[in-house]
Amino acid sequence: MASSSSSSRNRVLPTHCKCGFPLMKRTAWTEGNPCRRFLNCRYSNIPCKKNCNAFYWIDPEIYNQWYRTQMFELFLHLNPTERDEYTEQLRVQERFDLLETEYHVYHAEMETRLNDAEASGRILLFKIVYASR
Ligand SMILES: [Zn+2]
Repeated sequence: MASSSSSSRNRVLPTHCKCGFPLMKRTAWTEGNPCRRFLNCRYSNIPCKKNCNAFYWIDPEIYNQWYRTQMFELFLHLNPTERDEYTEQLRVQERFDLLETEYHVYHAEMETRLNDAEASGRILLFKIVYASR
């Protein structure tokens, strides 16, 4: 394991992508990869260059979850705008998860009621009444 991590540290990273330009050095500040540098195409955000998927991590992954969380929280603490966006994103995700759960509950209840109604013949009566209009 130690030998594989040292060999990945010594690996030679490409300098250019297939667009012919030098790769850009950037830093990821995501929850999963806080403060992790990488190289990618300088046009990676431009839709017409989407076929260029050059992307290489410079730094190894932070394997320790605690360090990763601490690093990300420091970043949020030092960047109020990102912190607010992240908090808002969490709030939206929580709301979405709640709505999705409610949807499944109501959907299951509706199916049960529909099956009960069909079994008791009420749906048939409903269909006859509306078909005769
Ligand atoms: Zn490129």
